[in-house]
Amino acid sequence: MPKEIATPSKTREILDKYGFSFKKSLGQNFLIDVNILNRIVDAAGMGEADGMMEIGPGIGALTEQCAKRVKQVEAFEIDGRLIPVLEDTLSAYTNVTIHHEDVLKADVETVLQGMRKNVHETAIVGNLPYYVTTPILMKLLEQKLPVARMVVMIQKEVAERIAAKPGSKEYGSLSIAAQYYADARTVMIVPKTVFIPKPKVDSAVLCLELRQSPPVHVKEETFFFQVVRASFAQRRKTIWNNLLNNFVGKDNKEHLAASFEQAKINPQRRGETLSMEEFAELSNVLHEYGSLF
Ligand code: SAM
Repeated sequence: MPKEIATPSKTREILDKYGFSFKKSLGQNFLIDVNILNRIVDAAGMGEADGMMEIGPGIGALTEQCAKRVKQVEAFEIDGRLIPVLEDTLSAYTNVTIHHEDVLKADVETVLQGMRKNVHETAIVGNLPYYVTTPILMKLLEQKLPVARMVVMIQKEVAERIAAKPGSKEYGSLSIAAQYYADARTVMIVPKTVFIPKPKVDSAVLCLELRQSPPVHVKEETFFFQVVRASFAQRRKTIWNNLLNNFVGKDNKEHLAASFEQAKINPQRRGETLSMEEFAELSNVLHEYGSLF
């Protein structure tokens, strides 16, 4: 049986064959541990009638493990130097299509819709480039794509912020933004030693189980997220100060006071203590004055 791509010796052999040099600016840290790759694929929960979309296949380590499990794999890689490498390393897998594209610019929705015609369920996976983790995740979540879940390797601190609950120091606008679209849980913490080159920080595998509908009712999503972001603008300040200075403006002090009262929320609390339900309530009340801000 041929050696799997993710073994340290096979990875080095591929890198040497192509004289590949890592680009830090593209977040290139390749995984060299088949067990961890399998934990990602396991968490994605897809079977032989299903499909997977991968972000940033690199030399194909994770792509290979996905291709063994599911019917169809669509992968997006930005680095043109890796396209001939992937054609070589994945030549045994006829169920893989590589798209030479920036996932932030690609029309992933059309690719996923196309895949849905051939498969039962779909999931998105990736060992994400750390420099664009949040934009990639938010783009995919906001599009409400036809996927069951996303399982991604990201920086441990970012995973903690995404999965954080109210009252914790990690809880903030990113936690609310992500949890509005998905139920988030950390699958495992991953040490630096399973990558080449070794990154400076630890990583975590995060599973985002996409919701069929949001957990709270908001009158206008954009407005809700603006209120949330403004509430965390300065973490040490009260929600009153943050919303007054960063959202409604001093001329609208009375409207703000009336909104807190109507939403039954103490304005002296800090944003990090409010649940998503409380933010929804506050933003719905504020929305009535929205045209004034
Ligand atoms: N999946 C491989 C692995 O686990 O070994 C590589 C993971 S590496 C952390 C991230 C990969 O994403 C690199 O191959 C990099 O070139 C690619 N990448 C970076 N930015 C990207 C973007 N905007 N769109 C698509 N791929 C990107």
